[in-house]
This record gives sequence, structure tokens and C-alpha cells, in this order.
Amino acid sequence: MPSLPKPNPSRRRFLKQSTLAALASTLAPSRSLHADPSTPQPAAKTRAPLTPGAFYPLPLGSIRPLGWLRDQLQIQANGLSGHLDEIWPDVGPNSGWLGGSGESWERGPYFLDGLIPLATLLDSPRLKAKAQKFIDWTLTHQASTGIIGPATNDDWWPRIVMLKALTQYHEATAAPRVLSVLDRYLRYQLAELPRRPLRDWGKFRWQDNLLTVLWLYNRTGSPYLLDLARLLHTQGYDWLAQYANFQYTQRITPEFIHLSEGNGLKDLALATHGVNNGQAIKTGPVWSQVSGSQSDRHAVLVMLAALDKYHGLPNGMFSCDEHFAGLDPSQGSEFCTVVEAMFSIEHSLAILGDPSLGDRLERLAFNALPGTLTDDMWAHQYNQQPNQVECSLHHKPWTTDGPESNLFGLEPNFGCCTANFHQGWPKFAASLFFLSGAPDTDTNDGLVAAVYAPCELRTLLRGTPIHILEETSYPFRGTVRITVNPASPLNFPLQLRIPAWAAAATLTVNGKSEPSPTPGTFATLTRTWQSGDRVELVFPLVPRISRWFHDSLAIERGPLVFSYGIGESWVKLRDRGLTADWQVFPTTPWNYALNVDPANPANSIAVTETPVGPAPFTRQGAPVHLSVKARKLTEWRAEDGAANPLPPSPVTTTEPEETIQLIPYAAAKLRITAFPLCKS
Ligand SMILES: [Zn+2]
Repeated sequence: MPSLPKPNPSRRRFLKQSTLAALASTLAPSRSLHADPSTPQPAAKTRAPLTPGAFYPLPLGSIRPLGWLRDQLQIQANGLSGHLDEIWPDVGPNSGWLGGSGESWERGPYFLDGLIPLATLLDSPRLKAKAQKFIDWTLTHQASTGIIGPATNDDWWPRIVMLKALTQYHEATAAPRVLSVLDRYLRYQLAELPRRPLRDWGKFRWQDNLLTVLWLYNRTGSPYLLDLARLLHTQGYDWLAQYANFQYTQRITPEFIHLSEGNGLKDLALATHGVNNGQAIKTGPVWSQVSGSQSDRHAVLVMLAALDKYHGLPNGMFSCDEHFAGLDPSQGSEFCTVVEAMFSIEHSLAILGDPSLGDRLERLAFNALPGTLTDDMWAHQYNQQPNQVECSLHHKPWTTDGPESNLFGLEPNFGCCTANFHQGWPKFAASLFFLSGAPDTDTNDGLVAAVYAPCELRTLLRGTPIHILEETSYPFRGTVRITVNPASPLNFPLQLRIPAWAAAATLTVNGKSEPSPTPGTFATLTRTWQSGDRVELVFPLVPRISRWFHDSLAIERGPLVFSYGIGESWVKLRDRGLTADWQVFPTTPWNYALNVDPANPANSIAVTETPVGPAPFTRQGAPVHLSVKARKLTEWRAEDGAANPLPPSPVTTTEPEETIQLIPYAAAKLRITAFPLCKS
């Protein structure tokens, strides 16, 4: 029998209007904010006997976006994320997760998993109110058995997603009821799993269930949670074995997984499924906290190496359209996989403390994530391609997806991404800093700048309120300025990730040079910090190349990948309420081979910087352009709306030399990213 909703002080806190305070702090960034009563709760460290990670995530709300990142989240709130429930019945008032008779599976929880952090980071009463309805219904309709969610199904999978939403809600509000609901549900799961084991999606995504089990254990210490962790591991798919001997090295065909025989939910199909693998990236690190095994912990690096080797693409993704699709940059990656891979890497980065995972996370966040959305974030693709020469209803080379998969729209191909993409930007923003330190003492606690974007942080170190202001136009510029404002002088280490590409980076504190930081490490500044201390990092952004399918080239600068922006003609296919579905056709040639010196790429690439405005991932607002010499390659053509495989480089062409402009990957919705190289 469901209990009645009760007034809840945390609910009011989640909904409180504090826009003016947020605005004031943005306008007066150097203002001392130590006395701010809104300093969030401290991070929960790893509780014994779990093996601690290198770093600990900070509770949602500790980090707030500023500058272009805040603008980007505001674009998201003004777009589909802030209005989806108004136009898409699957998360509308008849949702099963609001007690209605509508969609009762993954879509409500997916939406909430991104809406809660978006609402929190923007401190938006409008978005908080939308999220609160789902939270209230879930918290007040727990069955007497302990199960949560719509009574029309008992599938473990959608509940795994709702657990993630509830943990974020608790971090943002400290609502005590969340802990008791989670506790009752997870006790129910432990009792129920032996007779109703994980299956289908839940079996392949058990590591996300484990995440919440460990989250609660770190807060309550209830021993049954460790039993549940082991049971999930026993019943869940063995991802570590899959990658210890990786067999899926080729493009997966429908025949290979016997799709026509209705085998979509069989192990072979689920093991080669993009989103499942994106979620699986975190398996080793998260499980290593229980197993204590170093090889489990490092399994994430083994996984990423295999994905790169056999399915890697220049935008930081692996191909999955929607099963593994090989190295050809005309293959696609599903949007859900982008945001799930990001979420996996955020957790893996915290647990391993490996700076290469920060490089990877930025590559996804600054390229693949915005690259699959329209500028206003009202429409998205299901599949994006690094070499994307047309978004149309033509037959495309997808492994198993349908003809609308790379259209920009409300729910092209299938609506999972429509519900799930909202988590991408907010969870990235919430992962800019981590806490460091030993699990059982706060003596050596410190802070870690893991990935870079403009933000401010409020947290507690050894009981002392700390405010940190990060001012930067990174990734479009290479300078990061961090002002440290402890409430009273405090000695602690501040670790700063130095990307592997950042040769000749410089680091100063209050204008005084520190030793040159080493690329691919964390630089550590341990000192007694005084309010107003200023750290400045400068990463020289020198254009460089990377090599891909058929020895093709991609041009990079810092964490940004650059593309040739093909002329675009947007043709509306159909209206979809407040949004629409679009095809995009090319209006200019695209079949260029680059004429650069691979040994000294910077010598043949000219950089033009323009001011960083409020929409830097758009063609009009792109703050960086690269000029590069190129020649057309007449034999490289498109078929059925997709570029044919690139001719192996180097290539010979007698076409005249031209200068073409490259823009950030995400700014070009039609693009060439992997280019053939002209023979010198
Ligand atoms: Zn999807």
C-alpha cells in the first residue's frame, strides 16, 4: 500500500529560488564565499573493507558551471531537456513513473538521470519542479516488498537507472527518505535475485546497479550490501573475461548475431551492443573496490585499448551502429553510448586516478557529445559519424540500425537516446573536480582538477569551507586560472591534470614559476593556501595529427578534434511538436585529401582565434578555425548517403591545391574528420 506524500524540508531546499545568489556569485567571481551557508555536504569516502580509489566524486552541487559551460547547460535547459515532458508522452504526465498508464520502463528514469543534475547545476526552480514529480512518486510508492517503480513490470534494468537518479537527488538535497527507500529496495533485491536472477539488459548492465550498492554502503555500512555486490557480480555478464580475450574484432553483421531469428536479447547480441559496452567500461574499476584486484582496476585500460584498436574513431568513440562496426569513419556511434561511455570514464577516472582517462573524457565531451546535437539542443542524432557527408533517409552502412539513424530529430531510429542524452553535459560538469585523500583519515585530503572547464567549487576540507574559482575558455584557449579561497589558511594538495598532448605546459602560483609539469601526469601543489592564491596553467595549443583508418589523418588541437565543415542544406522531414526531424544534404564538395607534413603538422596549419561566445560548439560561434592545404580526390565518393571507405594514404591527386577551413568537430554537422594524406 503506497504511503501518502509528506512535506519534506529537503524538497523545499531542492526547489528554493536561489537564482539571484547564483547570479551574484557569477558576477563577482573573486568575492570571498567561505561563509556561504550553501556549502554542500562533504564527499563520502570508501568504507572498509572496500578498496579505496585514488579520488572520490564530490556530491552533486559542489561544482557549479560558469562561462561557456553554464551557457551550454542553459542551451540544454532551453532545448529538449527542459521541455521533453511537454512534447513526448513517454516522459509526460501519463508516464508509469508518475503513476500513469504510459511508458513504464527505462525512459522516465533515463530522463530523470540527466534532469536532476541539470536542474541542480543551473539551480533552476522550473527544472527542479519537473524532476520532483518523478522523485516524489517513486519515493512515496514503494511497495511493501520493497520494489520501486511501476507495478506493471518487475524488470531490474529500469530500476538500475532510477537508483542512479535517486543517489544524485540525495547528494543534492540530503533528503533522508532516499536512504531508507534505497535500503529497502536493495534488501528486496538481495532476497529476490536468487529466484529471479538478472537477465537481458540488467544482466549486461549490472555494474551500474553495483554503483548504487557501493554508494549506499559508503553511507550506511550495512554488511548485506557487500553480499548483494557479490551476487550481482555472480549473476552479471563477465565483461572482464570478454576483454581479456577480445573476439569481436570485426564489424558485427545482423547475420553474425542471428538478428532475424529474434536473437536481439541473446548474449551474443548484447555482448557486442554499443551501449552495453559503453556502460561496461566502468566494470573493472567499480568491481575492483569489492575484489581489491589491481588487474580488475586496470581492466578499463585493457577495454579501451581493444575498443580503440578494432573500433576506434577520431571523435574518441568506438563505432556502434548499433553493434560494433569497425574502424571506418563512415560508421556511426549511438548517442546513448557517448553519454554512457562518459559516465563510465568519469567513475573510472576517480577510481584509477589515471590522467589518460581525463584526456579521453574531454575528447568525448568536447567532440562527440555536442557533435550529435543541433546548436539549440532541440534535436539529436541516434548515430553520428566522424565522416558524415549526408544525414538522409538513404540506406546507410549501419550494422543493425534503421534508415533514420543519422537524422537530427526528436527520436530518430528509436527513442532511447531522446530519454538518455540529458546526463552528458551535467555529469561532465559535476566531474571537473574530485576529492583526494586516504579513506580513514582526512589529514591528507586535497582536491583534484581532473578535467577543465569554467566552474566554481564549494566544499569542505578538514571542516574548512573552500571555494575554488576556475576561469578559462578551455578547450578553445589553453590558459586555466584557478583562484583558491579557503575560509582560513589551510595546507592541502591541489592536483592538476596535465594532458598527454600538453608538451611545454607552464604552471605558476601567484605569478611565481613552478617546475615544468610533465604531460600525462597530475602536477601536485602542496602548500598552505591563503584566500586569493592564484594558480595559472598554460597549455600550448599546437595543432597535431593522429592516424586512423587506412592511415588517414585527423587534425587536433588540445582536446578538440577538427573537421572540414561541409556546406549544409537542412530540409525538414516532419514537424514534431516544438521540434522537428531534419535531413541535412551537402552543398559543397567534401572529398579532400590534406597536404600537410605529418612530421611537422603545425608548420602547415594556420590557426585563427575569434572571441569565445555563448555557443562555441556551433558553426557561427566557433572560436577557432584552422587553415590547411588540400586537394580534391575525385575517386573518393559517397554511396547511399555515406562516404565510401577512404583510399589508403598516401594518395596521389592532380587536382589543384586549395586552402580549406577546419572547425571544431561539433560545429560541423556535415563533416570530414579523417582525411586521406596527399603523397608529398
Ligand atoms: Zn540510444
